[in-house]
Amino acid sequence: MANGSLSVDTEHLFPIIKKWLYSEKDIFLREVLSNACDAETKHQRLVSLGEAPETAPDGYRIDVRADAEARTLTVTDNGVGMTKDEVDTYINNIALSGAVDFISKYEGEGGSGIIGHFGLGFYSMFMVADKVVMQTKSFRDEPAVRWECDEAGTYEMTDGERTERGTEITMYLTEDEAGYCDAGKLRSVLERYCAFMPFPIFLHDGDKEEQVNETVPLWQRSPSDCTDEDYKEFYKKQFRDYADPLFWVHINADYPLNFKGVLYFPQRKNAFDPQESEIRLFYNSVFVADNIKEVCPEFLVNLKGVLDCPELPLNVSRSYLQNDAYVRKVASHIVKKVSDRLNQLFNQDRETYEKNWNGIKPYIQYGCIRDAKFAEKTAGVVLFEKASGGWCTLDEYLDGKTEGTVYYTTDKDAQSYYLTLFAQKNLPVLLFDTLMDTNYAQYLEGKNDKLKFRRIDADLDAVRDGDGAADAPDTAVLETLFRKAMGKEETGKKDKKDAEDEPSPVAFVTLGAEDAPALVAVSEESRRMADMMRMYSLQNGQEGFAFPVEEKLTVNLASPLVRKLASLSPEDGKAQRIAKHIYLSAVLLSRPFRPEEQKEYLTLNQQILMEL
Ligand code: ADP
Ligand code: MG
Repeated sequence: MANGSLSVDTEHLFPIIKKWLYSEKDIFLREVLSNACDAETKHQRLVSLGEAPETAPDGYRIDVRADAEARTLTVTDNGVGMTKDEVDTYINNIALSGAVDFISKYEGEGGSGIIGHFGLGFYSMFMVADKVVMQTKSFRDEPAVRWECDEAGTYEMTDGERTERGTEITMYLTEDEAGYCDAGKLRSVLERYCAFMPFPIFLHDGDKEEQVNETVPLWQRSPSDCTDEDYKEFYKKQFRDYADPLFWVHINADYPLNFKGVLYFPQRKNAFDPQESEIRLFYNSVFVADNIKEVCPEFLVNLKGVLDCPELPLNVSRSYLQNDAYVRKVASHIVKKVSDRLNQLFNQDRETYEKNWNGIKPYIQYGCIRDAKFAEKTAGVVLFEKASGGWCTLDEYLDGKTEGTVYYTTDKDAQSYYLTLFAQKNLPVLLFDTLMDTNYAQYLEGKNDKLKFRRIDADLDAVRDGDGAADAPDTAVLETLFRKAMGKEETGKKDKKDAEDEPSPVAFVTLGAEDAPALVAVSEESRRMADMMRMYSLQNGQEGFAFPVEEKLTVNLASPLVRKLASLSPEDGKAQRIAKHIYLSAVLLSRPFRPEEQKEYLTLNQQILMEL
């Protein structure tokens, strides 16, 4: 018989265990069960080394039983067990001093700052129990041991009653933690923390027993042994989604990175939402934490999946992880694997890839903007949707060239007349339907100054008919008339320098479309600026702030109406009314009228119609 008080400053330690780990109490079960698994593993290894006799026919197993009346929780394994000396070494005199150091070092950071292995797994039981009794018998031919310890850290060791190899640990739960006797609660904690532990864990509920874990989780298998169905099933069960994932990446990195995982691109109906991240971190199949943003590249946190990193220094704080070289290597390996997989899917089955593109687009565009390596590796597989239907890559749009102008529409209905002009010219137009599309385009422009993205209403030069008709009318009269119509009359002085500083608000082209006397061209730069300002002010809870957008009236010299107008005098009232009408009609195809324009347009219509 041996009695004692645990060798370190336990009066200090136990209250800290209780208080400090409070928020993550459930982990005591993980710690107890991972110790049980470790004990099984050790025995298995000893058997394979010939140092222990063969195992029992029904193999290794761990049993979890609750007794609500006695308010106890018991975990039994048939692993190596411990001799009296081993209990002394590993339990009584364990490096608790190390644990104390560890706690005092991280105390300031609070429990949530620490993500995993505390180095005092065994004693985490005292978060929920005020007494623990352990009955253990070593696989060696030595007497069984009974060990009992109270919450003050006072223990008692006597001869034990256990006859079978293994260890049984009984926790006497505190009144507050009686809830752990509930089978439903136990099951949910076990499913969270122990779902993939490597030995079968049986939860007993009355006469029933139920295995709560899967001993060979998907990510521990070789990718060549896993079917598509396996991946989908795992995903749906683990992430409680009814829909299949779009695709997945199975990572199996060898030495020196040595980590495994499966990452899924879920189907998404809504926009990019960093809140939805669900990447679970495991340590040799033992669940450690959710949402480890520090390990997965930030732009991929919207994926769902599992990462198993037995090399990670888990008993460190998250801020440490952010700066850890190993973690950075893991993250860049993930980036490489994800981009390899995207390339493979694109090359293998472009049709399916295109079908899923809208679902994966937010990750990829955002990823390219955030991570140059990712952008480089996925450059060839970023798709753009064409307004006329179908998809193309940037390379395909530019016909293999690395420079040029890419035309896009942000609203097929509102910009439909412009779209018609582009269609007549057989010029492909891309469909930008999210703000991220524009951001991504801007990002590409930033990387290549010979590449320009222009909304179809930004630049009507693209749809002009040749270099203009030989018999083009004199534009002087037209310029005066349209400037007046726009309320932008010339200031008088026609200084050459002034004219250069202030570009004319009127331009002339020859368009194939005779039904459009003029169209408004909206400056790409000022429109983007206005969009940005609007977004910014909306995000800040202000009313949409109206940033002035530069508009240029592009007059179509092929229009019979324009030609007729050119032959009139700029002083002619009727000519002025028609010019104004042409201008407002052009505005109408470009944007909603301002209130004063609505009134003006109606009055003008009346006047012109009355002239009949
Ligand atoms: P760790 O698991 O990180 O070594 P713990 O505090 O969880 O630290 O456990 C301390 C030690 O107690 C273990 O290393 C092991 O030697 C011993 N131990 C705990 N539980 C068992 C068990 N069920 N069977 C055999 N040995 C155990
Ligand atoms: Mg342990």
